Amino acid sequence: MKIQHHGAVNGVTGSCHQLHIDEQNSVLIDCGLFQGAEQGKNNGAENNEKHLAIDFDISTVQALIVTHCHIDHVGRIPYLLAAGFRGPIYATTATAALLPLVIEDALKVGVTRNKSMINACLKLLKKQLIALDYKKWQSLALSDAALLVHPEPVEGRDAAAEASSPKAKIKFQMAGHILGSAYVEIDIIKKSNKTPKHRVVFSGDLGAPYAPLLPAPKSPYRADTLVIESTYGDKNHQNRKVRTKQLQKIIEKAVADNGVVLIPAFSIGRTQELLYELEKIIQRKANSSLWQNIDIIIDSPMAAKFTEHYKEFKNLWDAEAKQKLKLGRHPLSFEQLYTVDSHQEHRQTVAYLAKRNKPAIIIAASGMCSGGRIVNYLKQFLNDKTADILFVGYQAQGSLGRDIQKYGTIAEGTITDSSKPSKAPYVFIDGKRIYINAGVHTISGYSAHADQNGLINFVKRMRLNPHI
Ligand SMILES: [Zn+2]
Repeated sequence: MKIQHHGAVNGVTGSCHQLHIDEQNSVLIDCGLFQGAEQGKNNGAENNEKHLAIDFDISTVQALIVTHCHIDHVGRIPYLLAAGFRGPIYATTATAALLPLVIEDALKVGVTRNKSMINACLKLLKKQLIALDYKKWQSLALSDAALLVHPEPVEGRDAAAEASSPKAKIKFQMAGHILGSAYVEIDIIKKSNKTPKHRVVFSGDLGAPYAPLLPAPKSPYRADTLVIESTYGDKNHQNRKVRTKQLQKIIEKAVADNGVVLIPAFSIGRTQELLYELEKIIQRKANSSLWQNIDIIIDSPMAAKFTEHYKEFKNLWDAEAKQKLKLGRHPLSFEQLYTVDSHQEHRQTVAYLAKRNKPAIIIAASGMCSGGRIVNYLKQFLNDKTADILFVGYQAQGSLGRDIQKYGTIAEGTITDSSKPSKAPYVFIDGKRIYINAGVHTISGYSAHADQNGLINFVKRMRLNPHI
């Protein structure tokens, strides 16, 4: 057995691991896109096409296992299909429901607007996609060396050859990161070996223990080899109560001057967590006219679609969220929530918000501001001192989000005079210099990733630990 990492090695994006079971057989775990400055890291590729292409031999890949449908875990699937991969793609039921939406969007944003190309890719994807329930073993079809030597069934085929043929099975367990997310247990069984099986666990992304909506991940019972994400391996998050308070305080301060609060958020996971927390604050602040009247706008058809899926799969919610439903509350669809759909509606919303003098919270993708509708809001409001940008997610090196966060945060509270723009920090958006006069805030603890304690506990709480 051998493991190769084709991504998420020098950075945290582009997750793609290849587990070699033997010389004829391997499986891929995730096939993600590199993001931010990490785009150029892979093989020193100079242009987009090069780093997107699958640059390793896939002739032994028998299956792709998808842990969850964040773009840095699934974004290169179209390239895998283009490279000729026709094996099964295993995912949990919820992930299988979301994946075609994510891939369609990734193709539209980053590859092509050509409808027939997009449809051809989606057709292949849906054909190869196999939805699995959590906690159920699934055998993998592997190619058998002995069978390759004797392609025809041989009477009384060598029992030893039969016994030595490799077998593998996989099982998904809840990872608590986003809807449908899983870590995967892979059992490799070689009967000829004295050790009957070797269990490899790939963590995918693990959720934080007190994240809203989804239950925290439970550690595996056993792992002989563990490949674990470590995005926040060097940090501990603030606890959830502090975080919700911080969210409330920043928004109250930000809208005191009737300005807008822009929250760049990933469509899947972060948006729903934010809505959940905002609904909670609105409930608690029943006597606050600010909280009872503030508009919350989701300007992203994708985020709206995912929110629908979150509602559909409420059997996967945690106990607290289910309890709210029982009490008749709707944590993901409350009265002050508006969804902007078409592009025309989006343009009208930006223009309307620029004119009116009433606070609003806008959640729009992309999470790192590297594209999507948030960019139009930034063009409009970054220079506006009544506006505020609130980062709630990781900003990769080289992304526009990271630049705004870096330069804007230094200036917070000190730049008040927009008539002297030369003193204000700035960023370039679509080649245009835009000064940052808006307040820039970050709530770092707002992560759908386990922190250092969470990761260590995930390992410590196993009954049978990894070993060499
Ligand atoms: Zn993720």
